[in-house]
Amino acid sequence: MKVRLGGYNIDAKTIRELAGDRYGDMTPEIISASYARISRDPREVSRLREEARKDIEKARKSNTAIVFGLGHSSIAEHAVFNIDVMGISRLAVEAVEQFRLASFTEKSQRYIRLGRDFVVPEEIAKAGLKRDFKGLMKRLTESYKSMYESIRAAGEDDETAKEDARYLMPLATTAQFGMTVNARELEYMISRLASHPLAELREFASKLSSVAGGIAPSLVKYPDPTDYFKAAPAIRVDIRRTAGRAGKSLAGDGPEAILIDVTPDADKRLAASLIFASTSMSHSESMRRAAKLGKRRRAALIASTMEKMKPHDSVWREFENIRLLYEVTVSSSCFAQLKRHRMATIISQDYLPSLGISIPDSVRKAGKVKLLREAAELSGRVYRKIGSRAENARDYPLLNAHRRRVLFDINLRELYHFSRMRCDIHAQWEIRRLADLMCAMAEDKIPSGSVLLCGKDSFDRRKKDLFG
Ligand SMILES: Cc1cc2nc3c(=O)[nH]c(=O)nc-3n(C[C@H](O)[C@H](O)[C@H](O)COP(=O)(O)OP(=O)(O)OC[C@H]3O[C@@H](n4cnc5c(N)ncnc54)[C@H](O)[C@@H]3O)c2cc1C
Repeated sequence: MKVRLGGYNIDAKTIRELAGDRYGDMTPEIISASYARISRDPREVSRLREEARKDIEKARKSNTAIVFGLGHSSIAEHAVFNIDVMGISRLAVEAVEQFRLASFTEKSQRYIRLGRDFVVPEEIAKAGLKRDFKGLMKRLTESYKSMYESIRAAGEDDETAKEDARYLMPLATTAQFGMTVNARELEYMISRLASHPLAELREFASKLSSVAGGIAPSLVKYPDPTDYFKAAPAIRVDIRRTAGRAGKSLAGDGPEAILIDVTPDADKRLAASLIFASTSMSHSESMRRAAKLGKRRRAALIASTMEKMKPHDSVWREFENIRLLYEVTVSSSCFAQLKRHRMATIISQDYLPSLGISIPDSVRKAGKVKLLREAAELSGRVYRKIGSRAENARDYPLLNAHRRRVLFDINLRELYHFSRMRCDIHAQWEIRRLADLMCAMAEDKIPSGSVLLCGKDSFDRRKKDLFG
């Protein structure tokens, strides 16, 4: 066996400094081209890479033929980019982080300074609402400062005060993040966002295209908007018309969850999957054996897979056969965290001010609920005004406290991971409350399969309760 390093990512400045005149040749297309030819060329991959290195144009032609001619698109996944993004709104970040095959690390909202750090969207300027919008930003900045000071004065630490005062921040607030993405996902991202109704996202797509397209033209070849992607907003309008008017929504002030659907007989199904993977039985035979075991032995069989588990270990892959579909209502602040779980299917509605706002306990304790409600009311007014002239951009003035409904479709294995991170003492209060609700519902329907759903902080105690 031989294991050799084919390549790895280093920062662009170092590459530029070291490459000098040959900077144009420093492309991840070399890696893709050599891997692309592995399947058809008898030579060792290092020889193929050497050839690609010597003749980059030939390597590009070969990539184009294999990726786009033959449709062997996974070749483009071997080229990876690290992209710094600054000055993009929180609203736009939500659309970017929908791309599940990329990796993101964001600057925490705790460290954003409200006052300077917000975008003025093109649509709002064109609609003649720049003054209203900037006026709102000014008011929110003042309210944010007052909220932060009141929470501190009520005895909370700096971190909690920053974290909870941010419920007053609008979706126009800018964010900063690092993104690592392969060329295949990047091309898809650019094409989708270039077709997006928001000007900010189209600008982002065009900038992405120029930073990556120049380096790997053979792999990011079709970044253009498509009629298929562009048609989506109009189709949604038709769906709305077909469905008719929505009923009245009830306003709440914290996270809510409903378990809409769960794999029937989930414990039995889970035991059957474990039997299936460990024996030569068909699935139907595994189901019969799992049913025959009875509740107690089934629970023991499932628990046996967790006996050596540590807080950072995942449960076995068989847990992925159990699916749970939740409808959750969460604030934008909570959604910002929820959307980071890439192994789930997240379908979200637009923000709906009539769903109310999430109110942190520290804001209640500081006696500042009225301040938060007034800010939400003010931002709701600007939202409605923008909605009447530039509907696509109406969400920018909404606050982190405003709420939306989300369908969160997750398998039991990922729910374990979610619970470790989000039921934990270090998790932010709203997502922690949500995760606790979701886990309690899972425990009710899947008692044996959910025995160790908990945060990292309570893992040892729960495990001791289970195994003694
Ligand atoms: C207390 C706390 C503070 C946080 N602070 C910040 C912060 O300041 N900034 C910030 O950006 N984020 C922050 N996060 C979010 C965090 O970094 C994760 O992005 C988020 O919790 C999603 O979890 P995950 O990345 O483990 O994976 P998920 O997307 O939920 O995926 C589940 C699992 O699949 C695997 N997986 C998924 N994708 C990949 C991949 N591409 N490569 C390899 N394995 C993969 C991993 O095993 C992962 O654990 C914070 C989270 C917590 C709990």
